[in-house]
Amino acid sequence: MNYASIKYPDIQDGTGIRIAIYVSGCHFHCPYCHNKETWDKNYGKPFTEETIEYIINKFAENEDYTEGLSLLGGEPLELYNQPGLYELTTKFKERFPTKDIWCWTGYDFDRDVLPKMYKENEITRKLLSNIDIIVDGQFVQDKKMIDLIARGSYNQKKIDVKESIKTGQTVYLQFGDENRFEGLNKKPKVIFVKEFSKENPEEYRMVPTKNIVSEIIQNGEEYTPFKTNEKIEKISADNIIKNAKIEK
Ligand code: SF4
Repeated sequence: MNYASIKYPDIQDGTGIRIAIYVSGCHFHCPYCHNKETWDKNYGKPFTEETIEYIINKFAENEDYTEGLSLLGGEPLELYNQPGLYELTTKFKERFPTKDIWCWTGYDFDRDVLPKMYKENEITRKLLSNIDIIVDGQFVQDKKMIDLIARGSYNQKKIDVKESIKTGQTVYLQFGDENRFEGLNKKPKVIFVKEFSKENPEEYRMVPTKNIVSEIIQNGEEYTPFKTNEKIEKISADNIIKNAKIEK
């Protein structure tokens, strides 16, 4: 097994401050994947005993305020990555039993992992026994939102692995920001600002600010990113940019 990088401190992949490892190899090849270099299983450096030792020691340096370990990729649940990650997660849990482990996978937990991989592979059973939270599902560009918690597109789900294994059914958890696309009570605002054309300074288009925020000083029109008809539809910032009109 190879890995692309180790990130510490990491504040994007899970709750709190974490240490994250990005493993190499992923067969999903999602369009618009941000980590294309990690598709090749030979990319990066070999994962060895020294790598495990480095992660454990790095974590121990700031154990009190570091919350856990995150496994990303590439695809951590490729079968060739599972033995190395099992060894890492076992040693991590032995040393830090109260800390949590999150894992991101392109597999659908309910369709691919629990009924198939978990049943068919002993190594998957062993690895999942060490993991607390899985964020599942491939990245989907049309469902991308730029400020989702711990995921790139809103189709991705958060799963309580231990409860799912115990009950034999996928147990979903909330990220805490679902109301942004599942409910209409709190509508976030996308604020548009003017972007002037380089060729013609008279021309400009209205583009959304990069972050969806609840309050901001406005310099343009306000846009509601939900259609309030029966079918709730979420519009990503990218689609908004694509459809933005040049106003004269
Ligand atoms: S599953 Fe993740 S790493 Fe693999 S192609 Fe999709 S986004 Fe990229």
